Amino acid sequence: MRYMSKIITYDTTLRDGEQSEGVTLSLEDKLRIARRLDEFGVDIIEGGFPASNPKDIAFFRELREHPLKHARIAAFGATCKRGVPASEDQGLADLLASRAPVVAIVGKTWDAQVELALRTTLDENLRMISDSVAYLKSRGREVVFDAEHFFDGYKSNPEYALKCVLAAARAGADSIDLCDTNGGMLPFEIERMTRIVVEAVSPDGLQTDQSAASSIKAPRVGIHCHNDGGCAVANTLSAVRAGATQFQGTVNGYGERVGNADLLTVIADLELKMGCECVGAESLKKLMSVASYVAEICNFSVWAHAPYVGTSAFAHKGGLHASAIVRFPQAYEHEDPTAVGNASRMLVSELAGKASLVTKAAQLGFDLRQEPQSIQAILDEVKAREAQGYSYEVADGSLALLIARKLGKYQPFFTLESFRVIVDDREDYGAIAKDAQSEATIKIHVGDRRYVATGEGTGPVGALDNALHMALSEFYPQVNDMELIDFKVRLLDESTGTDAITRVAITLRDENGTWGTIGVSENIIEASWNALVESLEYGLMRIGA
Ligand SMILES: [Zn+2]
Repeated sequence: MRYMSKIITYDTTLRDGEQSEGVTLSLEDKLRIARRLDEFGVDIIEGGFPASNPKDIAFFRELREHPLKHARIAAFGATCKRGVPASEDQGLADLLASRAPVVAIVGKTWDAQVELALRTTLDENLRMISDSVAYLKSRGREVVFDAEHFFDGYKSNPEYALKCVLAAARAGADSIDLCDTNGGMLPFEIERMTRIVVEAVSPDGLQTDQSAASSIKAPRVGIHCHNDGGCAVANTLSAVRAGATQFQGTVNGYGERVGNADLLTVIADLELKMGCECVGAESLKKLMSVASYVAEICNFSVWAHAPYVGTSAFAHKGGLHASAIVRFPQAYEHEDPTAVGNASRMLVSELAGKASLVTKAAQLGFDLRQEPQSIQAILDEVKAREAQGYSYEVADGSLALLIARKLGKYQPFFTLESFRVIVDDREDYGAIAKDAQSEATIKIHVGDRRYVATGEGTGPVGALDNALHMALSEFYPQVNDMELIDFKVRLLDESTGTDAITRVAITLRDENGTWGTIGVSENIIEASWNALVESLEYGLMRIGA
């Protein structure tokens, strides 16, 4: 079924997303994310609690002075306290003081929660909801009512849960956002209960409700899902199917416990599969870059298998499959990867056939169709090395060097005369070593020049890396712009004890992107050295140094 409606995107990365374990955002981080989401086309961006800390107060001030282009900023808080009129409530005063055009207030809708957690009467909770919404509306704000635990509340006492959202609607709320706060609901439950609310707060629904003033305009219905049952995205789509026209989510699904509905996945599903408009087809192409930009600021990598935006989302392994996809991509790709800024990627593996190698090589800048006699030789080399423990699936840099060697296009940037690493521990902690230091000396030749460098580090590989950077930067200053972002060590055959093969995978980054290389040896230092050398060699090769 396809829909043709505008769905309002409401981002809560800066508030609910920041609850994620391991995420701490500075003021500057929050502003950068807000500006990127604004440029992407998100409609409402929730900034946080404007009273909770100086950082959030500064965030709202900064955006007043330098407003966003498209998005509206929302301040987040709660309804007034029990026994306190909305006009005298400090929390609501703080929300208004932020001068954010949108105010989101959370209120209770689950009878047991009202009585046990809030310790007040069901009637007083209804008063708190309608008084707060009416007060904020009288001060000219767009009001989003977050119905906390709505679905649990509806299951426990449907009549009361509905009374709560009707109280917000009658008081003039612009949006009633139903929250699956515990994240345990299933799509068919969400769809059924959302449909009931959509009907109850529709113009017809409010008309039959005697107590509603005839001038009240019907609010839109929104949805806020957590992913504890693994259904946050599905639940969000189900709510839209039932008539919700606003959804809340966080970039990459960041959020407490297992996270929130992933804003980016929902946007792609709504736009590509349900015919809804969120950010528009042009902006949708920025989906992958938004995912990695925000991940970077949160100090994470985008999960490789993330829908749409992961590097493996459109990766294809296996010769048969890879050659078929060139002829008929729809058979193996649910959407066109370029629609979300991603690309088809052929994984070279033991199964690789000629077609996938040619495609992969083309992505790396080699036209193997001009060198048909080399294709089999390269494939044989890949297979032989994979038998030794190499894996080229994420080591594009090492694969490019292998192809260049086979084609006779490889020019070494330097040659190694020798390296030596000393690991030294002098502290006395009984038998246990502590704070060992490493020192590496390398001797290399570039052309007819010889260069000796010594590097230090806490670990032997770090010391080698420092020495190698020091030596190479004398000849190739571009290596100073290359940064090591990931270093992984794996033992391949543990049955042979210390003779096990070690595989080292390295990821480097410069301003043009990231690349991986690999080293394999029985000696962990040798494996690391080889991966390091290839990472810098490929980095230099790809910029034409
Ligand atoms: Zn939440």
